[in-house]
Amino acid sequence: MFDLAITNGVVVDPVDGEYVSNIGISAGRIEKISPDFLEGRASIDLHGGKIAPGFIDIHMHGGEVNAPCIFYAEIFDYMALMGVTTCVGGNCGLGNSEIFKFKNSGLPVNYLSLIGHGALREKVGCSDRYRAASNDQLEKMIVLLEESLEGGSLGLSFGLEYTPGAPIDELIKLCRVVSRYPNKMVSAHYRFDASRALEAIAELIIVARDAGVRFQISHLNSCTAFGQTDEGLRMIDAAHREGVDLGVDAYPYAAFSTFIGSAVFDPGCFEKWGVSYDAVLVCEGRYRGQRCSEEIFNYIRKHEPESLVVAFVMKEEEVVRAIRHPLVMIASDGLMKNGQGHPRAAGAFPRVLGRYVREEKHLNLVEAVKKMTLMPAGQLRLATKGRIKEGYDADITIFNSDTIIDRATFENPTEPPVGIEYVFVNGIKVVEKGRLTGNLPGSFLSVQ
Ligand SMILES: [Zn+2]
Repeated sequence: MFDLAITNGVVVDPVDGEYVSNIGISAGRIEKISPDFLEGRASIDLHGGKIAPGFIDIHMHGGEVNAPCIFYAEIFDYMALMGVTTCVGGNCGLGNSEIFKFKNSGLPVNYLSLIGHGALREKVGCSDRYRAASNDQLEKMIVLLEESLEGGSLGLSFGLEYTPGAPIDELIKLCRVVSRYPNKMVSAHYRFDASRALEAIAELIIVARDAGVRFQISHLNSCTAFGQTDEGLRMIDAAHREGVDLGVDAYPYAAFSTFIGSAVFDPGCFEKWGVSYDAVLVCEGRYRGQRCSEEIFNYIRKHEPESLVVAFVMKEEEVVRAIRHPLVMIASDGLMKNGQGHPRAAGAFPRVLGRYVREEKHLNLVEAVKKMTLMPAGQLRLATKGRIKEGYDADITIFNSDTIIDRATFENPTEPPVGIEYVFVNGIKVVEKGRLTGNLPGSFLSVQ
């Protein structure tokens, strides 16, 4: 007798592929996978629904956006509703340096956290993003970084486009600290996009190689989907073949989102992207839902620099080519503030399964699931996640492959997807028929 029996489902496993089976879950683990009838204290008959490993979002923004002290954030609900069971926050240099102190909070999903380079710089008084840290500041950052790593953070994140003054040796010195911990890693939002994307990727490869650290290039699409994607992927492939420990992620949209006051929007950005002010959509405040004019853009950037905006600047066909590449994982880069932001936070994973797999056939279902499960689990060294396999954690996403699709839009970014039927985290149901159950079985996953 299992705690839960899931019967008549089609397992979608990244290694074994698709097959009909029943699954018995007890004490938060997948105990049994069998064609025979399994009995549970509770049971669900799926009538052919797909049973996938819970999606692992290796790149999102969790509690750190509300730093320094609010850990629970609405975005964790959107994660669960789109089938994510484990997510990594603190990316793009934004990670709160003290987040490990909040590690016992109950969440709908499991959470790992990176400490942000930008946050470390602020903490040691290096607030000028166009300057290098002094030797003294770098020493202090190293102490704080070690504290965070010892406290269970997953590693370090860079947001070089947001801190353009940080020189490469500052990056390498910090990465060398992380490389002393074999289970920890570094993620990096590149220094430049579009016409300078390739030099930015070259820099990240040098940092990863010189520091000998496990390295994740963040949201490649918003770096290279301006004409540089094929060459960028060739460079990454070559470094990977040579033994540099590199992973890559991308989200399935041709628009990016960030704060309007960031260095991403420094003078020259529109010329570089070949667009005008009206490519920018305002997500919050009194201009919410409007495209920018030069006046609106300048006004918000000056007076409300923390406002989230979306920029429609990338080429969709290059986003698809990035996502299809064998080294590239799916991640949301979700970032939400007060229910506002880019729809990727509530739609990224169902969008790949509905649009890229079912409708446009850019990927098959097993390949897509692998990019959402086993690949990020491998990069994160989560040895018991990412597969439907006996002995693995019962993090499971059950969906209808005929109906699954994102519904979050730039107008309604928190609209939940269609087709996610059940989500289990550590064997506990967090989503049933597309709605949250209110259970909070997820926790901060401390990395040692
Ligand atoms: Zn980023």
